[in-house]
Amino acid sequence: MFEVILKGHDKYYGVSDVVRMFFGVPEELKDEGKVVAPEGPDIRITNELLPDGRSVTYSEDKVYEFEGGLLEPGREIKRSLYLALSDITSQRMPWGCLTGIRPTLVACEEEDAKALEDKYFVRPDKAKLAFETSREEQRILSLVPEESLCIYVGIPFCPSRCEYCSFISSDISCHMDRLVNYEAALEREISLIASSIKRPVSAVYVGGGTPTVFEEKEFASLLDCMFLNLNITPECEVTVEAGRPDTITDGKLLAMKDHGITRICINPQTMRSETLLKLGRKHTAEDIVRVYRKAEDTGFDLINMDLIAGLPYENADEHVKSTKRLIELSPANITVHTLYKKRRASISREQVMDLYKTRGELDNCVAESYDLLKEAGYRPYYMYRQKDTGHGLENTGFAKGNTGSLYNVAMMSDARDVLSFGAGGMSKRCFKQEGEKHKHRVERCPTIKDALTYIERVEEMAEKKIAFFGM
Ligand code: SF4
Repeated sequence: MFEVILKGHDKYYGVSDVVRMFFGVPEELKDEGKVVAPEGPDIRITNELLPDGRSVTYSEDKVYEFEGGLLEPGREIKRSLYLALSDITSQRMPWGCLTGIRPTLVACEEEDAKALEDKYFVRPDKAKLAFETSREEQRILSLVPEESLCIYVGIPFCPSRCEYCSFISSDISCHMDRLVNYEAALEREISLIASSIKRPVSAVYVGGGTPTVFEEKEFASLLDCMFLNLNITPECEVTVEAGRPDTITDGKLLAMKDHGITRICINPQTMRSETLLKLGRKHTAEDIVRVYRKAEDTGFDLINMDLIAGLPYENADEHVKSTKRLIELSPANITVHTLYKKRRASISREQVMDLYKTRGELDNCVAESYDLLKEAGYRPYYMYRQKDTGHGLENTGFAKGNTGSLYNVAMMSDARDVLSFGAGGMSKRCFKQEGEKHKHRVERCPTIKDALTYIERVEEMAEKKIAFFGM
C-alpha cells in the first residue's frame, strides 16, 4: 500500500491531489495523519513542512527537496511530494505539480512561461499554453466591467443521456411532462428576480443539459421572457448551448436569431458516427454538418463546437480526425476537452482509467489537435482542468481572432459575479482581496439540483438569490 504521512501540516487536500495524479483517488485517514493510495508500490513516505516554510518529502533512504525560492506552504508541500512521486514512478506529469483547475491563474503571476517550468515542473508546451492563454483571458476579462453581472440559465434536460456525461441532466424520454413545468418555473424565477437587478449585464449563457430540448413554443417563450426581463443590450454576449443536433430545428434557429442570440454551440464531441451512436447520442456526424450549415445560413457567424479527446469506442487518433473535420467547417470557436470521470457518469471508471495505458498516445493526439488549430488560425483563449482526468490533461477553448467567449472567461476567472437561474445553478459573488491581483474570494449560493423540487420551490430560490446578492 502506498502511504504518505503528513508532518508539520494538515494539508490533506493538497497531498491527495498530488497522490491522485499518480495512483488514483486516495483515502484521507486524518486520525492516523496519513493519505493512502488505492494503487501504487508498497512504500511509506513522509511529507513534512519545516518551521522555515520549506517542505521535504522523504522515504527511508531518500530525501526530496526543491532548491530555490520559497512558495507558500500549500504549493511547497505539493512540490516536494511531486518530486518524490515522480522519482518513485519515473513519470512526469504534463502540468508538473500544478493540481488546480485553473493553471492560467498561476501563469498570471509569472513574467514568462519558463517560470512555470522552473517552479512547478510544468512541461514546456503546457507552460507556453498556460502563459499564452492567461494573457488572452486577461484581455477578454478587461472587456467585462467589474460591476457587471453574468447570467446563467440552466436547463438540466437532454434528449438522451450520453454515457460519459458528468452533468446533472435528465433524459427527457423519462421526464417529458416536466419540461413544460420547468420552463414555466424558469420564467417565474426570471421575472421574480429581474426587477431587482440594477447592474449592467455583460454576458448571458443558456446552458445545460441541452436548452434546445424544449419544444419550439416553450423555447421561444423562454427567450421572450429573458429578453423582456433581463437587461440584455445589443452589446451583450448571449450564448445558447444548442448542443445536440437532434434538438435543433429551423424554428429554434430562427427564434434565436430573431431574439438576438449572438453565439450558439453545436457540439459534436467526435465526428465519428459510430462512436456517437455507441455513446447514446442518437445522431450522426452528418447531422452535425447539416445543422451547422443551417445555422450559418440562418446568419450565425459565432458558433462554438466542442470535441472530447479520449472517448471510449474510438482510438485517440480519431480525435485528430474530428479536429480536422471541424477545421474544415471553420466555426469561430472550437473547444477541446479531455475525457474525465465523475460520479454520475454511467461510463465506468475503468473505461476512463484505461486511458492511463494510452496516456502518451492521447497526449500526442491532443498536442497534434492544438497544432492543427493554431495552423488554422485559432488561438487559445480560456482553459481549465478537471480532477480525475486520468491522463492529467486539460480543456482548452480556441477562438479565431477576437471571438473568445466573454462568459466562459468571466465565469472561469472567478472574478465576476454570476447570477444563475434554474435547477442546479450556482450563483457566485467575487470579492477583491487586498494584495491579490488576480485571485478573488468567492461566495457561492447553490440552487436545488432536482428539477421537480426546483419547480415546487422556485419562489424560495428566487428570494434566496435576491438576499444573496443584496438586491
Ligand atoms: S453530454 Fe451534453 S448532451 Fe450529453 S447528456 Fe451530457 S449534457 Fe446532455
